[in-house]
Amino acid sequence: MSVLTILEFPDPRLRTRAEPVRAFDAELKQFVADMFETMYDANGVGLAATQVNVHQQVLVADMSDERNQPLVLINAQILEKDGEQVYQEGCLSFPGIYADVTRALKVKVKAQDVDGNEVVMDFEGPLAVCIQHEMDHLAGKVFVDYLSPLKRSMLLKRMEKQRKQAASA
Ligand code: ZN
Repeated sequence: MSVLTILEFPDPRLRTRAEPVRAFDAELKQFVADMFETMYDANGVGLAATQVNVHQQVLVADMSDERNQPLVLINAQILEKDGEQVYQEGCLSFPGIYADVTRALKVKVKAQDVDGNEVVMDFEGPLAVCIQHEMDHLAGKVFVDYLSPLKRSMLLKRMEKQRKQAASA
């Protein structure tokens, strides 16, 4: 397994729309294993293939404290959304910045597992946020897109400043 490089905003490749996965082969299983390793290595709770510059509809997540509930969704589609919640989100492609985003409270998702079997799952609360956030990545969308222009530019300036400080440290 290997840890993959995570693209950081404003990398234009984060705007790419992912293609559906068609081949459920050994290569896909290896890629999913690498995505989990990358997510756990970065202490993330979710990762979309777009963020590692692979433009296929694959996302992984694990919101458990013990880091032992890996979830992989391939070709995920939201069937139903219900309610609303505000949650403070972060993103491995935006190191060090967090912002409140309003999303659906519950989502019903149809997807495939690594073997290509169809699964329908219901998510609620923080995990529903995570799934919606990662599905956005696969559509070329990022969480700061939901913010007002002023809030967005403040956060991006802060990220830039932190990046410079990290580079000079
Ligand atoms: Zn993200």
